[in-house]
Amino acid sequence: MFEKVLIANRGEIALRILRACRELGIKTVAIHSEADAEAKYVKLADESVCVGPAPSSGSYLNVPAIISAAEVTDSEAIHPGYGFLSENGEFAERVESSGFVFIGPRPETIRLMGDKVSAKEAMRAAGVPCVPGSDGALPEDPKEIVRIARAVGYPVIIKAAAGGGGRGMRVVHTEAALLNAVATTRGEAFAAFANGTVYLEKFLENPRHIEIQVLADSFRNAVHLGERDCSIQRRHQKLVEEAPAPDLNRRVIQRIGERCAEAARRINYRGAGTFEFLYDEGEFHFIEMNTRIQVEHPVTEMVTGIDLVQEQIRIAAGEKLRMRQREIETRGHAIECRINAEDPATFKPCPGRILAWHPPGGPGIRVDSCVYAGYTVPPYYDSLIGKVIAFGDTREQAIRRMQIALSEMAVEGIRTTIPLHQELMQDARYIRGGLSIHFLEEKLAAREQAEKV
Ligand code: ADP
Repeated sequence: MFEKVLIANRGEIALRILRACRELGIKTVAIHSEADAEAKYVKLADESVCVGPAPSSGSYLNVPAIISAAEVTDSEAIHPGYGFLSENGEFAERVESSGFVFIGPRPETIRLMGDKVSAKEAMRAAGVPCVPGSDGALPEDPKEIVRIARAVGYPVIIKAAAGGGGRGMRVVHTEAALLNAVATTRGEAFAAFANGTVYLEKFLENPRHIEIQVLADSFRNAVHLGERDCSIQRRHQKLVEEAPAPDLNRRVIQRIGERCAEAARRINYRGAGTFEFLYDEGEFHFIEMNTRIQVEHPVTEMVTGIDLVQEQIRIAAGEKLRMRQREIETRGHAIECRINAEDPATFKPCPGRILAWHPPGGPGIRVDSCVYAGYTVPPYYDSLIGKVIAFGDTREQAIRRMQIALSEMAVEGIRTTIPLHQELMQDARYIRGGLSIHFLEEKLAAREQAEKV
Protein backbone atom coordinates (compact mmCIF):
# COMPACT_ATOMS: atom_id res chain seq x y z
CA MET A 1 0.00 0.00 0.00
CA PHE A 2 1.08 3.60 -0.56
CA GLU A 3 2.63 5.55 2.26
CA LYS A 4 1.53 8.96 1.08
CA VAL A 5 -1.13 10.16 -1.33
CA LEU A 6 -1.57 13.66 -2.71
CA ILE A 7 -5.19 14.76 -3.10
CA ALA A 8 -5.49 16.95 -6.19
CA ASN A 9 -8.88 18.41 -5.32
CA ARG A 10 -10.73 20.52 -2.77
CA GLY A 11 -13.93 20.65 -0.75
CA GLU A 12 -15.99 17.67 0.35
CA ILE A 13 -14.37 15.20 -2.02
CA ALA A 14 -10.87 16.12 -0.76
CA LEU A 15 -12.05 15.32 2.76
CA ARG A 16 -13.74 12.12 1.58
CA ILE A 17 -10.48 10.92 -0.01
CA LEU A 18 -8.53 11.97 3.08
CA ARG A 19 -10.77 9.82 5.27
CA ALA A 20 -10.35 6.82 2.97
CA CYS A 21 -6.57 7.26 3.10
CA ARG A 22 -6.58 7.48 6.88
CA GLU A 23 -8.53 4.27 7.19
CA LEU A 24 -5.96 2.59 4.98
CA GLY A 25 -3.12 4.02 7.07
CA ILE A 26 -1.92 6.34 4.29
CA LYS A 27 -0.53 9.82 4.96
CA THR A 28 -2.17 12.64 3.02
CA VAL A 29 -1.03 15.77 1.25
CA ALA A 30 -3.68 18.39 0.54
CA ILE A 31 -3.23 20.99 -2.14
CA HIS A 32 -5.06 24.29 -1.96
CA SER A 33 -5.42 27.63 -3.63
CA GLU A 34 -4.83 30.91 -1.81
CA ALA A 35 -8.60 31.09 -1.26
CA ASP A 36 -8.72 27.67 0.45
CA ALA A 37 -5.87 28.07 2.94
CA GLU A 38 -8.34 27.87 5.85
CA ALA A 39 -10.32 24.91 4.49
CA LYS A 40 -11.07 21.97 6.77
CA TYR A 41 -9.56 19.36 4.46
CA VAL A 42 -6.31 21.36 4.46
CA LYS A 43 -6.20 21.48 8.24
CA LEU A 44 -6.89 17.76 8.56
CA ALA A 45 -4.27 16.64 6.05
CA ASP A 46 -0.82 15.58 7.25
CA GLU A 47 0.77 18.13 4.93
CA SER A 48 -0.48 20.83 2.62
CA VAL A 49 0.90 22.79 -0.30
CA CYS A 50 -0.45 26.02 -1.78
CA VAL A 51 -0.47 25.52 -5.56
CA GLY A 52 -1.60 28.93 -6.74
CA PRO A 53 -4.10 31.76 -6.65
CA ALA A 54 -7.86 31.49 -6.17
CA PRO A 55 -8.97 30.95 -9.78
CA SER A 56 -8.75 27.21 -10.48
CA SER A 57 -6.87 27.80 -13.76
CA GLY A 58 -3.86 28.81 -11.65
CA SER A 59 -4.26 26.28 -8.84
CA TYR A 60 -6.44 23.16 -9.07
CA LEU A 61 -5.78 22.99 -12.80
CA ASN A 62 -2.12 23.96 -12.52
CA VAL A 63 -0.44 20.72 -13.58
CA PRO A 64 3.22 21.73 -13.06
CA ALA A 65 2.45 23.10 -9.57
CA ILE A 66 0.59 19.93 -8.59
CA ILE A 67 3.36 17.67 -9.87
CA SER A 68 5.98 19.64 -7.96
CA ALA A 69 3.81 19.50 -4.84
CA ALA A 70 3.90 15.70 -5.18
CA GLU A 71 7.67 15.84 -5.65
CA VAL A 72 8.49 18.04 -2.68
CA THR A 73 6.26 16.02 -0.36
CA ASP A 74 7.51 12.61 -1.57
CA SER A 75 3.99 11.48 -2.41
CA GLU A 76 3.63 8.18 -4.21
CA ALA A 77 0.23 8.56 -5.79
CA ILE A 78 -2.23 11.28 -6.79
CA HIS A 79 -6.00 11.04 -6.36
CA PRO A 80 -7.78 13.49 -8.69
CA GLY A 81 -11.28 13.34 -7.13
CA TYR A 82 -14.00 14.57 -9.53
CA GLY A 83 -14.06 17.64 -11.75
CA PHE A 84 -10.82 19.63 -12.22
CA LEU A 85 -8.14 17.29 -13.69
CA SER A 86 -9.92 14.01 -12.95
CA GLU A 87 -10.78 13.26 -16.57
CA ASN A 88 -7.78 14.86 -18.20
CA GLY A 89 -5.72 12.22 -20.03
CA GLU A 90 -2.71 14.53 -20.36
CA PHE A 91 -2.67 15.06 -16.60
CA ALA A 92 -2.85 11.32 -15.91
CA GLU A 93 0.04 10.84 -18.31
CA ARG A 94 2.11 13.61 -16.72
CA VAL A 95 1.49 12.06 -13.29
CA GLU A 96 2.72 8.67 -14.47
CA SER A 97 5.68 9.97 -16.50
CA SER A 98 6.77 11.94 -13.42
CA GLY A 99 6.97 8.68 -11.51
CA PHE A 100 3.72 8.83 -9.51
CA VAL A 101 0.72 6.54 -9.59
CA PHE A 102 -2.48 8.06 -10.95
CA ILE A 103 -5.44 6.80 -8.94
CA GLY A 104 -7.71 6.22 -11.90
CA PRO A 105 -7.80 4.57 -15.30
CA ARG A 106 -4.94 4.51 -17.81
CA PRO A 107 -4.44 7.80 -19.69
CA GLU A 108 -5.51 6.21 -22.99
CA THR A 109 -8.77 4.98 -21.44
CA ILE A 110 -9.51 8.46 -20.11
CA ARG A 111 -8.95 9.87 -23.60
CA LEU A 112 -11.06 7.21 -25.29
CA MET A 113 -13.98 7.82 -22.93
CA GLY A 114 -13.45 11.58 -22.64
CA ASP A 115 -14.39 12.00 -26.25
CA LYS A 116 -18.06 11.09 -26.29
CA VAL A 117 -17.94 10.15 -29.96
CA SER A 118 -15.14 7.61 -29.51
CA ALA A 119 -16.73 6.47 -26.23
CA LYS A 120 -19.98 5.61 -27.99
CA GLU A 121 -18.09 3.82 -30.74
CA ALA A 122 -16.18 1.74 -28.20
CA MET A 123 -19.36 0.93 -26.29
CA ARG A 124 -21.24 -0.06 -29.42
CA ALA A 125 -18.35 -2.37 -30.29
CA ALA A 126 -18.51 -3.83 -26.77
CA GLY A 127 -22.21 -4.61 -27.15
CA VAL A 128 -23.53 -1.80 -24.93
CA PRO A 129 -26.78 -0.30 -26.29
CA CYS A 130 -26.43 3.41 -27.24
CA VAL A 131 -28.82 6.28 -27.98
CA PRO A 132 -29.52 6.22 -31.73
CA GLY A 133 -27.92 9.11 -33.59
CA SER A 134 -25.14 10.12 -35.96
CA ASP A 135 -22.64 7.30 -35.87
CA GLY A 136 -19.67 9.50 -35.15
CA ALA A 137 -19.07 13.24 -35.43
CA LEU A 138 -21.36 15.42 -37.52
CA PRO A 139 -19.80 16.37 -40.86
CA GLU A 140 -19.42 19.98 -42.07
CA ASP A 141 -21.74 19.55 -45.07
CA PRO A 142 -25.15 21.06 -44.14
CA LYS A 143 -27.03 18.73 -46.50
CA GLU A 144 -25.49 15.74 -44.80
CA ILE A 145 -26.43 17.10 -41.35
CA VAL A 146 -30.03 17.60 -42.43
CA ARG A 147 -30.10 14.08 -43.85
CA ILE A 148 -28.74 12.54 -40.63
CA ALA A 149 -31.23 14.43 -38.45
CA ARG A 150 -34.12 13.33 -40.66
CA ALA A 151 -33.02 9.73 -40.50
CA VAL A 152 -32.78 9.88 -36.69
CA GLY A 153 -36.08 11.77 -36.42
CA TYR A 154 -36.93 14.91 -34.43
CA PRO A 155 -36.50 16.00 -31.74
CA VAL A 156 -32.73 15.59 -31.72
CA ILE A 157 -30.04 16.81 -29.37
CA ILE A 158 -26.73 18.26 -30.56
CA LYS A 159 -23.91 17.44 -28.15
CA ALA A 160 -20.26 18.41 -27.91
CA ALA A 161 -17.88 15.44 -28.13
CA ALA A 162 -15.80 17.03 -25.38
CA GLY A 163 -18.79 18.24 -23.34
CA GLY A 164 -19.30 17.68 -19.65
CA GLY A 165 -21.04 19.00 -16.58
CA GLY A 166 -24.27 19.45 -18.51
CA ARG A 167 -22.70 21.96 -20.88
CA GLY A 168 -22.49 21.88 -24.66
CA MET A 169 -25.92 20.47 -25.48
CA ARG A 170 -28.84 21.80 -27.47
CA VAL A 171 -32.23 20.27 -28.22
CA VAL A 172 -33.65 20.78 -31.72
CA HIS A 173 -37.33 20.24 -32.47
CA THR A 174 -37.58 21.24 -36.11
CA GLU A 175 -35.47 21.10 -39.24
CA ALA A 176 -35.68 24.90 -39.53
CA ALA A 177 -33.71 25.27 -36.29
CA LEU A 178 -31.16 22.53 -36.99
CA LEU A 179 -28.23 24.19 -38.76
CA ASN A 180 -28.23 27.21 -36.48
CA ALA A 181 -28.21 24.97 -33.44
CA VAL A 182 -25.32 22.93 -34.83
CA ALA A 183 -23.31 26.11 -35.52
CA THR A 184 -24.02 27.57 -32.07
CA THR A 185 -23.16 24.34 -30.25
CA ARG A 186 -19.95 24.01 -32.28
CA GLY A 187 -18.97 27.57 -31.37
CA GLU A 188 -19.73 27.06 -27.70
CA ALA A 189 -17.91 23.74 -27.64
CA PHE A 190 -14.89 25.32 -29.24
CA ALA A 191 -14.87 28.17 -26.74
CA ALA A 192 -15.45 25.95 -23.70
CA PHE A 193 -13.49 22.80 -24.56
CA ALA A 194 -11.18 23.92 -27.41
CA ASN A 195 -12.85 21.22 -29.52
CA GLY A 196 -15.67 22.03 -31.91
CA THR A 197 -16.60 18.41 -32.66
CA VAL A 198 -20.31 17.80 -32.20
CA TYR A 199 -22.57 14.82 -32.71
CA LEU A 200 -26.28 14.23 -32.83
CA GLU A 201 -28.57 11.97 -30.86
CA LYS A 202 -32.24 11.23 -30.76
CA PHE A 203 -33.66 13.40 -27.96
CA LEU A 204 -35.49 10.98 -25.73
CA GLU A 205 -38.63 12.65 -24.46
CA ASN A 206 -39.22 11.05 -21.08
CA PRO A 207 -36.24 8.99 -20.04
CA ARG A 208 -34.83 8.30 -16.63
CA HIS A 209 -31.12 8.73 -15.94
CA ILE A 210 -29.85 5.40 -14.65
CA GLU A 211 -26.15 4.72 -14.22
CA ILE A 212 -24.12 1.63 -13.43
CA GLN A 213 -21.12 1.69 -11.09
CA VAL A 214 -18.21 -0.58 -11.97
CA LEU A 215 -14.90 -1.46 -10.36
CA ALA A 216 -12.08 -3.03 -12.35
CA ASP A 217 -8.54 -4.01 -11.39
CA SER A 218 -5.36 -4.13 -13.49
CA PHE A 219 -5.87 -7.83 -14.19
CA ARG A 220 -9.03 -7.51 -16.28
CA ASN A 221 -11.32 -8.43 -13.42
CA ALA A 222 -14.42 -6.26 -13.29
CA VAL A 223 -17.62 -6.19 -11.29
CA HIS A 224 -20.67 -3.94 -11.24
CA LEU A 225 -22.19 -2.54 -8.07
CA GLY A 226 -25.69 -1.99 -9.35
CA GLU A 227 -27.35 1.22 -10.37
CA ARG A 228 -28.14 4.76 -9.28
CA ASP A 229 -31.16 6.73 -10.39
CA CYS A 230 -30.11 10.34 -11.04
CA SER A 231 -33.21 11.61 -12.81
CA ILE A 232 -33.80 14.57 -10.51
CA GLN A 233 -31.89 17.16 -12.51
CA ARG A 234 -31.93 20.82 -13.42
CA ARG A 235 -30.17 21.97 -16.58
CA HIS A 236 -28.70 18.49 -16.97
CA GLN A 237 -27.19 18.73 -13.46
CA LYS A 238 -28.10 16.18 -10.82
CA LEU A 239 -29.64 17.31 -7.53
CA VAL A 240 -30.94 14.11 -5.93
CA GLU A 241 -29.68 10.58 -6.52
CA GLU A 242 -30.72 7.22 -5.15
CA ALA A 243 -29.93 3.53 -5.17
CA PRO A 244 -31.51 1.26 -6.13
CA ALA A 245 -33.65 2.79 -8.87
CA PRO A 246 -37.33 2.58 -7.86
CA ASP A 247 -39.47 0.11 -9.81
CA LEU A 248 -36.74 -1.38 -11.92
CA ASN A 249 -36.67 -5.09 -12.43
CA ARG A 250 -33.60 -6.58 -10.70
CA ARG A 251 -32.98 -8.97 -13.54
CA VAL A 252 -32.89 -6.12 -16.04
CA ILE A 253 -30.32 -4.36 -13.86
CA GLN A 254 -28.24 -7.53 -13.54
CA ARG A 255 -28.21 -7.89 -17.30
CA ILE A 256 -27.11 -4.31 -18.07
CA GLY A 257 -24.69 -4.40 -15.14
CA GLU A 258 -23.00 -7.48 -16.54
CA ARG A 259 -22.79 -5.82 -19.96
CA CYS A 260 -20.98 -2.89 -18.32
CA ALA A 261 -18.58 -5.12 -16.41
CA GLU A 262 -17.85 -6.95 -19.66
CA ALA A 263 -17.31 -3.65 -21.50
CA ALA A 264 -14.93 -2.56 -18.73
CA ARG A 265 -12.91 -5.75 -19.27
CA ARG A 266 -12.89 -5.20 -23.04
CA ILE A 267 -11.52 -1.66 -22.83
CA ASN A 268 -9.03 -2.79 -20.19
CA TYR A 269 -10.59 -0.43 -17.68
CA ARG A 270 -8.93 0.18 -14.32
CA GLY A 271 -10.45 1.71 -11.19
CA ALA A 272 -13.94 2.98 -10.46
CA GLY A 273 -16.12 4.08 -13.36
CA THR A 274 -19.70 4.86 -14.22
CA PHE A 275 -21.68 3.97 -17.32
CA GLU A 276 -24.46 6.50 -17.74
CA PHE A 277 -27.67 5.52 -19.48
CA LEU A 278 -30.98 7.03 -20.38
CA TYR A 279 -33.67 4.47 -19.64
CA ASP A 280 -36.71 4.82 -21.83
CA GLU A 281 -39.61 2.44 -22.48
CA GLY A 282 -37.80 -0.47 -20.95
CA GLU A 283 -34.54 0.07 -22.86
CA PHE A 284 -31.13 1.30 -21.77
CA HIS A 285 -29.28 3.77 -24.00
CA PHE A 286 -25.66 4.55 -23.17
CA ILE A 287 -24.81 8.28 -23.17
CA GLU A 288 -21.37 8.51 -21.62
CA MET A 289 -18.86 7.03 -19.24
CA ASN A 290 -17.32 8.87 -16.30
CA THR A 291 -13.81 7.62 -15.64
CA ARG A 292 -13.61 8.82 -12.03
CA ILE A 293 -15.36 8.78 -8.68
CA GLN A 294 -18.71 10.55 -8.86
CA VAL A 295 -20.39 13.03 -6.54
CA GLU A 296 -23.21 10.54 -5.95
CA HIS A 297 -20.98 7.55 -5.11
CA PRO A 298 -22.15 7.42 -1.44
CA VAL A 299 -25.58 6.00 -2.28
CA THR A 300 -23.88 2.96 -3.80
CA GLU A 301 -21.59 2.68 -0.78
CA MET A 302 -24.58 2.72 1.56
CA VAL A 303 -26.44 -0.10 -0.19
CA THR A 304 -23.42 -2.30 -0.98
CA GLY A 305 -21.26 -1.65 2.08
CA ILE A 306 -18.28 -1.19 -0.25
CA ASP A 307 -16.03 1.85 0.18
CA LEU A 308 -15.50 2.94 -3.42
CA VAL A 309 -12.69 5.40 -2.68
CA GLN A 310 -10.72 2.81 -0.73
CA GLU A 311 -11.23 0.33 -3.57
CA GLN A 312 -9.91 2.93 -6.05
CA ILE A 313 -6.77 3.30 -3.96
CA ARG A 314 -6.29 -0.46 -3.53
CA ILE A 315 -6.66 -1.01 -7.27
CA ALA A 316 -4.15 1.76 -8.02
CA ALA A 317 -1.73 0.14 -5.58
CA GLY A 318 -1.88 -2.99 -7.72
CA GLU A 319 -4.23 -5.11 -5.62
CA LYS A 320 -6.64 -7.55 -7.17
CA LEU A 321 -10.37 -6.92 -6.78
CA ARG A 322 -11.40 -8.20 -3.39
CA MET A 323 -14.93 -9.17 -4.36
CA ARG A 324 -16.57 -11.40 -6.92
CA GLN A 325 -19.81 -10.48 -8.63
CA ARG A 326 -21.85 -13.03 -6.72
CA GLU A 327 -20.58 -11.67 -3.41
CA ILE A 328 -21.91 -8.19 -4.10
CA GLU A 329 -25.30 -7.76 -2.54
CA THR A 330 -27.35 -4.64 -2.21
CA ARG A 331 -29.44 -4.05 0.87
CA GLY A 332 -31.89 -1.28 1.71
CA HIS A 333 -32.23 2.07 0.00
CA ALA A 334 -30.13 5.25 -0.04
CA ILE A 335 -30.91 8.80 -1.17
CA GLU A 336 -28.50 11.72 -1.56
CA CYS A 337 -29.45 15.40 -1.60
CA ARG A 338 -26.84 17.82 -2.89
CA ILE A 339 -26.64 20.89 -0.70
CA ASN A 340 -25.51 23.77 -2.90
CA ALA A 341 -24.77 27.32 -1.85
CA GLU A 342 -27.46 28.61 -4.18
CA ASP A 343 -30.74 30.42 -3.97
CA PRO A 344 -33.33 27.61 -3.85
CA ALA A 345 -35.65 29.46 -6.23
CA THR A 346 -33.32 31.08 -8.77
CA PHE A 347 -30.31 28.77 -8.33
CA LYS A 348 -28.05 31.80 -8.33
CA PRO A 349 -24.79 30.93 -6.53
CA CYS A 350 -24.73 32.31 -3.02
CA PRO A 351 -21.17 32.32 -1.70
CA GLY A 352 -20.35 34.01 1.59
CA ARG A 353 -19.76 33.44 5.25
CA ILE A 354 -21.60 30.61 7.01
CA LEU A 355 -22.71 31.96 10.39
CA ALA A 356 -24.28 28.77 11.72
CA TRP A 357 -23.95 25.16 10.55
CA HIS A 358 -25.97 22.42 12.18
CA PRO A 359 -25.69 19.19 10.22
CA PRO A 360 -28.25 16.44 10.87
CA GLY A 361 -27.52 13.02 12.36
CA GLY A 362 -29.16 9.92 13.73
CA PRO A 363 -29.62 6.40 12.37
CA GLY A 364 -28.87 6.03 8.67
CA ILE A 365 -27.74 9.63 8.13
CA ARG A 366 -24.39 10.46 6.55
CA VAL A 367 -23.16 13.98 5.86
CA ASP A 368 -20.22 14.48 3.50
CA SER A 369 -19.23 18.10 3.79
CA CYS A 370 -16.23 20.26 4.32
CA VAL A 371 -17.80 23.42 5.75
CA TYR A 372 -18.28 24.68 9.31
CA ALA A 373 -19.65 27.69 11.15
CA GLY A 374 -17.43 30.66 10.35
CA TYR A 375 -16.31 29.22 7.01
CA THR A 376 -16.59 31.45 3.98
CA VAL A 377 -17.79 29.73 0.81
CA PRO A 378 -15.49 31.17 -1.88
CA PRO A 379 -17.07 32.45 -5.09
CA TYR A 380 -14.53 30.76 -7.38
CA TYR A 381 -15.67 27.16 -7.44
CA ASP A 382 -18.61 24.82 -7.72
CA SER A 383 -21.43 25.68 -5.30
CA LEU A 384 -21.66 22.18 -3.73
CA ILE A 385 -21.06 22.56 0.01
CA GLY A 386 -22.19 19.18 1.21
CA LYS A 387 -24.25 16.07 0.66
CA VAL A 388 -26.80 14.53 2.96
CA ILE A 389 -27.26 10.82 2.47
CA ALA A 390 -30.12 8.90 4.09
CA PHE A 391 -30.18 5.12 4.30
CA GLY A 392 -33.17 2.97 5.22
CA ASP A 393 -34.33 -0.63 4.99
CA THR A 394 -36.90 0.55 2.48
CA ARG A 395 -37.26 3.58 0.21
CA GLU A 396 -40.06 4.86 2.45
CA GLN A 397 -37.75 4.76 5.44
CA ALA A 398 -34.94 6.48 3.54
CA ILE A 399 -37.31 9.28 2.48
CA ARG A 400 -38.65 9.65 6.00
CA ARG A 401 -35.13 9.84 7.42
CA MET A 402 -34.17 12.38 4.76
CA GLN A 403 -37.22 14.51 5.64
CA ILE A 404 -36.22 14.49 9.30
CA ALA A 405 -32.55 15.18 8.51
CA LEU A 406 -33.41 18.18 6.34
CA SER A 407 -35.77 19.55 8.97
CA GLU A 408 -32.98 19.37 11.56
CA MET A 409 -30.39 20.92 9.33
CA ALA A 410 -29.71 24.63 9.77
CA VAL A 411 -27.38 26.75 7.70
CA GLU A 412 -27.30 30.47 8.37
CA GLY A 413 -25.59 33.29 6.53
CA ILE A 414 -25.98 31.91 3.01
CA ARG A 415 -28.86 30.48 1.04
CA THR A 416 -28.83 26.79 0.15
CA THR A 417 -30.87 24.23 -1.77
CA ILE A 418 -32.19 22.72 1.50
CA PRO A 419 -35.74 24.19 1.13
CA LEU A 420 -35.99 22.76 -2.39
CA HIS A 421 -34.99 19.32 -1.14
CA GLN A 422 -37.55 19.59 1.67
CA GLU A 423 -40.22 20.33 -0.89
CA LEU A 424 -39.08 17.45 -3.10
CA MET A 425 -39.07 14.93 -0.26
CA GLN A 426 -42.73 15.85 0.39
CA ASP A 427 -43.76 15.71 -3.26
CA ALA A 428 -46.25 12.90 -3.87
CA ARG A 429 -44.75 12.18 -7.30
CA TYR A 430 -41.22 11.91 -5.91
CA ILE A 431 -42.49 9.67 -3.14
CA ARG A 432 -44.12 7.45 -5.78
CA GLY A 433 -40.75 7.34 -7.63
CA GLY A 434 -39.62 6.44 -11.11
CA LEU A 435 -39.66 10.02 -12.46
CA SER A 436 -38.14 11.20 -15.73
CA ILE A 437 -35.27 13.67 -16.12
CA HIS A 438 -37.80 16.43 -16.89
CA PHE A 439 -39.72 16.15 -13.64
CA LEU A 440 -37.86 18.81 -11.68
CA GLU A 441 -37.85 21.43 -14.41
CA GLU A 442 -41.55 20.85 -15.00
CA LYS A 443 -42.20 21.21 -11.30
CA LEU A 444 -40.17 24.43 -11.13
CA ALA A 445 -41.92 25.84 -14.19
CA ALA A 446 -45.34 25.03 -12.69
CA ARG A 447 -44.35 26.74 -9.46
CA GLU A 448 -43.20 29.84 -11.29
CA GLN A 449 -46.46 29.91 -13.22
CA ALA A 450 -48.47 29.58 -10.01
CA GLU A 451 -46.55 32.46 -8.46
CA LYS A 452 -47.39 34.71 -11.42
CA VAL A 453 -51.18 34.34 -11.07
P1 ADP B 1 -22.59 15.63 -19.37
O1 ADP B 1 -21.30 14.96 -19.71
O2 ADP B 1 -22.53 17.10 -19.62
O3 ADP B 1 -23.12 15.27 -18.02
P2 ADP B 1 -24.43 13.70 -20.61
O4 ADP B 1 -24.22 13.18 -21.97
O5 ADP B 1 -24.10 12.81 -19.48
O6 ADP B 1 -23.63 15.10 -20.46
O7 ADP B 1 -25.92 14.19 -20.44
C1 ADP B 1 -26.35 14.85 -19.27
C2 ADP B 1 -27.85 14.90 -19.21
O8 ADP B 1 -28.39 15.51 -20.40
C3 ADP B 1 -28.54 13.55 -19.13
O9 ADP B 1 -28.62 13.06 -17.81
C4 ADP B 1 -29.92 13.90 -19.68
O10 ADP B 1 -30.68 14.59 -18.72
C5 ADP B 1 -29.61 14.89 -20.79
N1 ADP B 1 -29.45 14.21 -22.10
C6 ADP B 1 -28.27 13.85 -22.69
N2 ADP B 1 -28.50 13.20 -23.86
C7 ADP B 1 -29.83 13.13 -24.03
C8 ADP B 1 -30.71 12.57 -25.04
N3 ADP B 1 -30.24 11.93 -26.12
N4 ADP B 1 -32.05 12.67 -24.86
C9 ADP B 1 -32.56 13.31 -23.76
N5 ADP B 1 -31.80 13.86 -22.80
C10 ADP B 1 -30.46 13.79 -22.91
